[in-house]
Amino acid sequence: MQTFETQELISQISTKPYNRNDWQGGYKSLKQEFDYWIDDIEGQIPPELHGTLFRNGPGLLDINGQPIHHPFDGDGMISRITFANGRAHFRNRFVRTDAYLEEQKAGKLLYRGVFGTQKPGGWLANAFDFKLKNIANTNVIYWGDKLLALWEAAEPHRLDPHTLDTLGKEYFHGVLSEGEAFSAHPCFDPSCEFDGGEPCLVNFSIKVGLSTTITIFELDTTGTIVRKHTHSVPGFAFIHDFAITPNYCVFFQNPVSFNPIPFALGIRGAGECIKFQPNQPTRVIIIPRQPPLDKGGLRGVQIIETHSGFVFHHANAFEQGNEIIIDSICYESLPEVEPESDFRQTDFDALKPGQLWRFHLNLQDKTVQRKLIESRCCEFPTLHPQKVGREHRYLYIGAAHAPSGNAPLQAFLKMDLHSGERQLWSAAPKGFASEPVFVPRPYSQGEDDGWVLALVYDASCDRSDVVILDARNFNKDPVARLHLKHHIPYGLHGNFSSEVFV
Ligand code: FE
Repeated sequence: MQTFETQELISQISTKPYNRNDWQGGYKSLKQEFDYWIDDIEGQIPPELHGTLFRNGPGLLDINGQPIHHPFDGDGMISRITFANGRAHFRNRFVRTDAYLEEQKAGKLLYRGVFGTQKPGGWLANAFDFKLKNIANTNVIYWGDKLLALWEAAEPHRLDPHTLDTLGKEYFHGVLSEGEAFSAHPCFDPSCEFDGGEPCLVNFSIKVGLSTTITIFELDTTGTIVRKHTHSVPGFAFIHDFAITPNYCVFFQNPVSFNPIPFALGIRGAGECIKFQPNQPTRVIIIPRQPPLDKGGLRGVQIIETHSGFVFHHANAFEQGNEIIIDSICYESLPEVEPESDFRQTDFDALKPGQLWRFHLNLQDKTVQRKLIESRCCEFPTLHPQKVGREHRYLYIGAAHAPSGNAPLQAFLKMDLHSGERQLWSAAPKGFASEPVFVPRPYSQGEDDGWVLALVYDASCDRSDVVILDARNFNKDPVARLHLKHHIPYGLHGNFSSEVFV
């Protein structure tokens, strides 16, 4: 079986552009909740940058001094940066999930984490405890006048966008049932053909077993679920993200197996029981967004096989003739979480980088052609929100500083897929990057006419910056660097809303 083999460049750089101690600084808990106008600013905030950037990620890397095993097990903390009239305001709040409140009250770990965090007391204290902690730490969206913190294995938590207070769990007028999953990677269709060209939100959930159930949800602009359909596909599936086109949802079913026994016996977290299967293909699952006639059946669902590999995140997909074209960040294999390892001691050189590939899925011939677009280590791709599901020219991605090898993200890469041009803005050696978010300039003309916003951890002063880049030109200095008064632990995903919440 061929894999998404990593393509190596010969590195010209003999010294690393980062120091691991500096990188580790971004993995500390932020226990305080802040609320202030940002006044330490280099450059100028564009006065026409108007709206709110919401970010989510693990805010706690320990519970009262007891370390968690993996950052994905950290309690969700929302950071909100509001831009209005050339000024910016910061606020952060933890999502008050039931488990967060219980553990904070108890002052100790009460729950096992999916990614290997165990309760104290060894395997006996953990065996046969299948309670999941809905940690609401992966993404935050503002849709249908609701601010929702998302975690892929359970229902969203709704927050007040003005105060960031937790209001409770969200069930979309009872369409979602208690504990039902709602993934952390919704796609926003800017112009939905089924809703008269109105925008809509498309999301999914995964229910695993010997076969896997994929449910598709589509929400209109009022936040009402207007389409929901369920499909069963063969085998166990670990699917974190998907992509949409006007007519299809596209999933990559990574070749993995799941052995639940060590989890049941309290020896490993559930996520540590997933094993990559290099000799099996990746299955690309293509589900029409219009529900099939026979409810729950496979009719209309296509599965096409391609090389073995692992994908967490897709950049975008679009339709072209008989093909769906999809750009995805691919790894040669799943970086496995080991029970005895410490994520702060990650040996970046021992792992293969994520690289951007383009796949041509031919729906007629049921074939897949693929090519490497970017060999630089990269993650967290984003693009102009109006290009979701449509052919895009530009992508913005978190990237390593050096053109080869595996390393922490320290830079942002702008890719022009028409000309092939690359522009890189790097925060190395002391800066560490996160997911970029593209915000179009009001009344913008071009696809890259706007700003790229991102949090950058600055190890030289142990605090984080909000960096505003001119998306038209990454070669220039940032438009502004907003110095926060504290660090923000490395986060996961977020979104921008043109509404102002202070
Ligand atoms: Fe993700």
